[in-house]
Amino acid sequence: MQMTSSLDYAKEADKNDPLASYRSQFYMPPGKTRAEQLYFTGNSLGLQPKSVESYIQQELDDWKKYGVEGHFHGKNPWFSYHHFFDKEAKIVGGKKEEVVVMNNLTVNLHLLLVSFYGPTKSRYKIIMEAGAFPSDMYVIESQVKHHGYAYDDAVIELHPREGEHHLRTEDIVQAINDTGDELALLFFSGVQYYTGQAFDIKTLTAAAHDVGAIAGFDCAHAAGNVKMELHDWDVDFAAWCTYKYLNSSPGGVSGIFVHEKHGNNSETPRFAGWWGHKESERFQMKKGYIPEPGAAGWQLSNAPVLAMAAHKASLDMFDEVGMDALVEKGGRLNAFLEQVVKDAQLSNTKLEFEIITPEERGCQLSMLTNENGKALFDFLTENDVIADWREPNVIRLAPVPMYNSFMDIWEFGELLRKF
Ligand SMILES: *Cc1c(COP(=O)(O)O)cnc(C)c1O
Repeated sequence: MQMTSSLDYAKEADKNDPLASYRSQFYMPPGKTRAEQLYFTGNSLGLQPKSVESYIQQELDDWKKYGVEGHFHGKNPWFSYHHFFDKEAKIVGGKKEEVVVMNNLTVNLHLLLVSFYGPTKSRYKIIMEAGAFPSDMYVIESQVKHHGYAYDDAVIELHPREGEHHLRTEDIVQAINDTGDELALLFFSGVQYYTGQAFDIKTLTAAAHDVGAIAGFDCAHAAGNVKMELHDWDVDFAAWCTYKYLNSSPGGVSGIFVHEKHGNNSETPRFAGWWGHKESERFQMKKGYIPEPGAAGWQLSNAPVLAMAAHKASLDMFDEVGMDALVEKGGRLNAFLEQVVKDAQLSNTKLEFEIITPEERGCQLSMLTNENGKALFDFLTENDVIADWREPNVIRLAPVPMYNSFMDIWEFGELLRKF
């Protein structure tokens, strides 16, 4: 059926949606004006899978029943709890040894920069996108300061061309080449949180490597959203949180990827803790750190089992569905949203905004508004649309394939017409 912004199309697309049944496996927040909110912020905090409660309950029960012995005798022994997350690797296209779940995202970025930002007198520069997520800006700012560099000397921020809203790959590659052997690190997001642009990780990584630099990515908005092949693309390191597209509880745990060429090298510098020590000797309490091979050798602390249990519930669902099916539906949902929004604009001249998300994207549309942007956002909020407002003037909408329907989007379009 040809895509149009019609009700018939939305109904038909939902009827033929192979993932339609997953919506009922989530708690959809109730609305004031409708039974369920139109929830388009799965890119900020994913909804709660109904299965989370029983996964956490399992660990509470084992704690109750076994106390410390739960480390070995629980149903999912906590001693090796991180092994239950091997599937995480499939989300980002890594080998299972290249991925581990631990800590929170910003913490992990710092830990990875300890390993992968080792500036020298002649090679100390970092290229990143201008307007990166604030935590990433602060991470880089404090890292270069820590190494004794002035921010403006060490960090090159790339802006879109005059009059454009997103970066061109060719311009990023040009900047990498221009920086040449002064470039220590290319540090980019996988998907830009503000514009929704999905960067060409493969091309950027190759360009960074061509000048002898390291390539690392913050995949917070990419994990569970776009298809990645971090291993094959030869990415050096990456990290992401699991509470956005991956629906794994507020402030939930983070995943990291360390390419095996670094992970299997015990000389790769790092900060160490007992949980990353060679697993077979972890409880021997010996002096002298011997890292577990792979990303596991970056772990510091014993696993925060309750938070990880929430992630485990969600990850099992992702594994069942698979990234291919999610990306396929996500692309159609997003295209439908774009169509619905553009058609609404044709019929309502008060809708003065511009979509700034390029074709290279996951499930997100960013609408750049003008003076009446806040009024539009407030109107949507009053009508139970959960979108998000990002200063200075963008409304972000993320229709996610795991639980959003085409009907959600059609109803959103009807509201836009009434603004
Ligand atoms: C969401 C997000 C963060 C959040 O970091 P936390 O440490 O999980 O609070 C950091 N960076 C990016 C790019 C993000 O999208």
